[in-house]
Amino acid sequence: MTDVYPTVPTTAGSKRTDYPAGFVVPQYFGDDVARWNLGQIYGNKPLPPERYDRPPTEPFFVIDLDAHDDISRACGHPPTVCLVGCAFLAQRKIYIAHEIVLRQCGATRNLVLRHEIGHLNGWPGIHEEARFSPLSKAGETDVRP
Ligand SMILES: [Zn+2]
Repeated sequence: MTDVYPTVPTTAGSKRTDYPAGFVVPQYFGDDVARWNLGQIYGNKPLPPERYDRPPTEPFFVIDLDAHDDISRACGHPPTVCLVGCAFLAQRKIYIAHEIVLRQCGATRNLVLRHEIGHLNGWPGIHEEARFSPLSKAGETDVRP
């Protein structure tokens, strides 16, 4: 099978993947479950409102961090419970935590990717109108429990 998105090593263990404009993040049942789980973690905002939850219009790239990489440091954030990703708009760059961290927090890479692409699409970092539940209807803004 052809590797559509070839990877370029950055630091030991982490890897870079380039994505084209218009990339659609695959979504599986597990991603919906993760969205529900993450919605229960205080301060976590799984998905942007629909106007930002769409394929990006410009290419971007993802750095998947190694298990030993510190995502807080990579993102320049203070250490936060279940920080699983961040986006740098000007550089079109997204950091995603290692699979071990994602599992510990009940997240999936696809879900984190959709969240961070939302930021690349202009969703402000204050996470206004975040959508929590996969059961909400289109256009609905969820109310936190
Ligand atoms: Zn965010």
